[in-house]
Amino acid sequence: MSKLIPGRETARKCEAHASETDEVVAIPARQTQLGNGLAIYRALPQVGLKLIGPWCFLDHFGPLDVKPGAGLRVGPHPHIGLQTVTWLLTGELLHRDSLGMTQRILPGQLNLMTSGNGIAHSEESPADHAGRLHGVQLWVALPEDERLGEPRFDHYPELPLIDRSALRISLLAGESMGLQSPARVFSPLVGLDIELVDTGRHPIDLNPDYEHGLLVLEGRVAMADHQMDIGTLFYLPVGRSRLELDNAAPARALLIGGPPFPDTILMWWNLVARTAAEITVARNDWEQGRRFGTVTGYDGERIAAPRFDYRLKS
Ligand code: MN
Repeated sequence: MSKLIPGRETARKCEAHASETDEVVAIPARQTQLGNGLAIYRALPQVGLKLIGPWCFLDHFGPLDVKPGAGLRVGPHPHIGLQTVTWLLTGELLHRDSLGMTQRILPGQLNLMTSGNGIAHSEESPADHAGRLHGVQLWVALPEDERLGEPRFDHYPELPLIDRSALRISLLAGESMGLQSPARVFSPLVGLDIELVDTGRHPIDLNPDYEHGLLVLEGRVAMADHQMDIGTLFYLPVGRSRLELDNAAPARALLIGGPPFPDTILMWWNLVARTAAEITVARNDWEQGRRFGTVTGYDGERIAAPRFDYRLKS
């Protein structure tokens, strides 16, 4: 049986609970807003579940009606210690970064930004958007030997597709079912967009060395006796080699996973580090216009860092 965990307090127990009982743990995503008031689900991080493999952040936005002249607008902000992964189901977004890259992304494509020791970017709905937006943004924590490296940005116009007629799987990142994504990542991991085109039962192979998370993006999916709805993250501990999804109507889900991340990370605002001192330095570098470069072409203000109080975050 899945345990429905009703809030932040109980979510703390989920890792220990899952490893003891080998159950699926359901954790409600937090409803929150992006800067300009777009309502989103934040599935990661959660109190008690900071990471799934190296995946440390997961936002599910939309489907949203985007009015002319409106849409997603996230002004220039910095990142360290992570990769951002952007994947759309509907609509389009425009990425700009301090390396001078400008990249429009459409459904089926992947934007992958590697921050290394520092990069800044903005994300927005382009002026000629189609009026609808639905997607996810994830972060991958960089391992110790890569996290202070050079920043880079990669756009993948196509990804491996496993097409079994009843089931269509895009391999966003990592390895699965004998295929490898071209996305340049630095830890073992997997990221799949699973479209359940037909109804019925759909087996999916898992790497038993990985822990996994499943998030429904459209429709409704069942797994054994677990009903899975939009807005809840389902955590699957290490040791599973197979998943069987069952759906009564077309549905779509995101599956992420990886071996438990070896380092304890400190995540604050848009920064992933190991110590409060690193966060303090990065925050001050951003506030004082050092280190991260400049994003050009974004029609709006850069985002100011909040105050960092390390005592609250240690
Ligand atoms: Mn960002």
